[in-house]
Amino acid sequence: MTFKDLGLAEPILKALKEQGYSNPTPIQEQAIPILLNGKDLLGVAQTGTGKTAAFGIPILHHLYEGISLRDTKRKVKALVVTPTRELAIQIGESFTAYGKHTGLRNTVIFGGVKQGKQVDALRRGVDILIATPGRLLDLMNQGHISFRDLEFVVLDEADQMLDMGFIHDIKKIIAKLPPRRQSLFFSATMPKTIVELSRKMLGDFERVTIKPEQATAEKVEQGVYFVSKANKHKLLIHLLQQRPDDSVLVFSRTKHGANKIVKKLDQAGIRSAAIHGNKSQTARQKALGAFKEGKLKVLVATDIAARGIDVDDLALVINHDLPNVSETYVHRIGRTGRANASGIALSFCMAEERPYLRDIEKLIKQDVPRLGEHPFMDDASEQETVIRRPTQKSRDNSNRSKNKNRNRNRNRNRNNSRNSKTQGSNNQGRSNMNNRDN
Ligand code: AMP
Repeated sequence: MTFKDLGLAEPILKALKEQGYSNPTPIQEQAIPILLNGKDLLGVAQTGTGKTAAFGIPILHHLYEGISLRDTKRKVKALVVTPTRELAIQIGESFTAYGKHTGLRNTVIFGGVKQGKQVDALRRGVDILIATPGRLLDLMNQGHISFRDLEFVVLDEADQMLDMGFIHDIKKIIAKLPPRRQSLFFSATMPKTIVELSRKMLGDFERVTIKPEQATAEKVEQGVYFVSKANKHKLLIHLLQQRPDDSVLVFSRTKHGANKIVKKLDQAGIRSAAIHGNKSQTARQKALGAFKEGKLKVLVATDIAARGIDVDDLALVINHDLPNVSETYVHRIGRTGRANASGIALSFCMAEERPYLRDIEKLIKQDVPRLGEHPFMDDASEQETVIRRPTQKSRDNSNRSKNKNRNRNRNRNRNNSRNSKTQGSNNQGRSNMNNRDN
């Protein structure tokens, strides 16, 4: 199938061609016809599947067909709510790219910066508004945003919004939406609270599910090194020194860990920067910008901060720590091998992380190839390296460890819901992934 077969307006087809998109991705192929028909949509998909274009293209199409571009003052007709400023900015860039020849205008609003410029942009008039929940609610309450002309509403990364404590803000926003609208709801996972939230928002809807393993695990070349905690930094430095020209995204489980990695790399003469919830918005943007432009080769990120990262030439993802929630692994490796490209993901696994590796392998339904020896082997990693395949017994144990994880996650959820509403404050992110209903 081609984009032309979907019956899209000419200016959009032209822009997609310029972007180098020849064929729709699976989510686009399924979602675009539903949305062009005016139906609500529940999309169970993560970033990396092409979901931004899956909702962006039909919205642009409808607006382009319906709008009088001679209108002197643009009114907000489409609203996209997304959890982080990085995602918001990226979605804005996508609308700008796909809508380049439509004459439609978008603007992005998010917290952590002064509101003046955002308010000015709204005053000048926009067709499409992309917002993080807190700032959106703020500006709504101050009377800067009217939903009177709203026709399309997208709630993006709903499960992440829940993880970050935005649920009450979201409910308040939904309560103010006009009843006549087309609603789109995206979430990577569907725990019970998210199902309930989707029911509140959606009318007569169709569901499209893109399984994460289908989306990424198959086309990303993966490998795992067994290495002790003490030697992880050394192995990282060694690998980075071998590929000085590649853009590499390094994942750390904690913000503190990310800072420490940057320090160790710096001592080894490798320039890098960390992005996580404790970094200022300017610092995050600067690091991400330099990374995207290829000026900075190594970016160290926590999971939440990395959600919005979309870099075309990302050669390699390194998991300095394995995530204890298996789906997070798929999200991480999906940063490389975007859309139709392929990529490489290497993971470091210390003894304590073995159960996480087993859970990941169960989820992606494949073994992550063992990469054998490296210069920083010690007794523990040697033992681990010779074990090529988990035995039946260890698979049984992995169930036990999974239950342990589940309890740990449950406890973390409880803590999370008590925690702050600050954007990006939760670097562990996807804590309730195990509460799936599908
Ligand atoms: P997303 O899931 O929206 O974050 O998109 C993931 C990446 O895929 C982005 O870099 C998009 O530019 C790219 N992309 C989206 N749709 C297509 C397509 N049909 N063909 C090629 N690349 C695409």
